[in-house]
Amino acid sequence: MTDLPTPKPGILDIAPYVGGKSKIDGVAEPMKLSSNENALGAGQKAREAFQAAVSNIHIYPDGRATKLRDAVADHHGLEPERLIFGNGSDEVFALLNQTYLTPGDNIVTGQYGFLAYRISALANQAEVRLAPEPNFRTEVDALLALVDERTKLVYISSPSNPTGSYNTAEETRRLHEALPAHVLLVIDEAYAEFVAEPDWETSLPLARDAENIVVTRTFSKIHGLGGLRIGFGYAPLKVAEAVDRIRLPFNVSVPGLEAAVAALGDEAHQKASRDLVQTWRPRLTQAIKGFGFEVFPSAGNFVLVRFPDEKRNAAAANEYLHTRGIIVRPVGGYGLHDCLRITVGTEDQNRAVLDALSEFAAS
Ligand SMILES: *Cc1c(COP(=O)(O)O)cnc(C)c1O
Repeated sequence: MTDLPTPKPGILDIAPYVGGKSKIDGVAEPMKLSSNENALGAGQKAREAFQAAVSNIHIYPDGRATKLRDAVADHHGLEPERLIFGNGSDEVFALLNQTYLTPGDNIVTGQYGFLAYRISALANQAEVRLAPEPNFRTEVDALLALVDERTKLVYISSPSNPTGSYNTAEETRRLHEALPAHVLLVIDEAYAEFVAEPDWETSLPLARDAENIVVTRTFSKIHGLGGLRIGFGYAPLKVAEAVDRIRLPFNVSVPGLEAAVAALGDEAHQKASRDLVQTWRPRLTQAIKGFGFEVFPSAGNFVLVRFPDEKRNAAAANEYLHTRGIIVRPVGGYGLHDCLRITVGTEDQNRAVLDALSEFAAS
């Protein structure tokens, strides 16, 4: 007999999130291409700001994140009071779920939608409805078909992880127009800065005039600050004010705030990061296709590769890459058992990936 309270219904049904692997036995410095981190690391300006912040780490951070709030508002032309800052955008999703979901409500997202949306929805005893993605991209009509009066949030990411697909500006507008007003549409733009496709647009302007759109961004990808955990949402004022009531008062750290402000002003590092991805994404895609594997078109800083062959399958490819000191991401958690997601790395890393996959194809 134990007197411990039992976790709430649903909690123990949540599969623990497994992050990208970072070690290979016997390899001192593996190439980590498993978490879509910035291959160039953080920029010099962000590093310096982080180091300078060391003299203030005994001081609680500004709970309103005023300096970062003003910098983000200025950078994107947004109203500062409509921003929600989080310990990564992951926390923004969790806060939205916690603010709006009661047991029996539901969220709707794509079949291959980012797992982070689902975890906190389940923790709030909500149902997670997954719209089929037969073409490995979010389908507007499939999402709409699952929406009912208990739907509180619809989540899309554009570009999406792990598929790399995106929704055109027209599709996103159509989704928003067709959604009932009681549903909050969350558009996750974690990979916005890497998109090259002309029919994609940021939804920040769409959100400005809407009463039920939240657009999220992160400092983890283009800015290379994944380790510091900073993201934000741009929400209707009413949403931002509601979320603010449950947000932990000091959810973004002192060095995080300082580094993020500096990163936002470091256009050169953002450009170098974008250029690296836009140069290597097509090269990786073409070359890996040439080895006989499928590569999904990607608008993010990664490619999703499919290994349809029974013998030269994704698990075997993953093992082979390990023997070359390369860590990529199996995506069985999304049901994509025959795929691996590979982050675009530095030139040397990308060449190592291509060498290894070419050898694997010939093995
Ligand atoms: C990496 C990523 C994020 C960013 O999460 P943070 O918590 O801000 O690090 C958000 N959405 C998607 C789809 C991602 O892949």
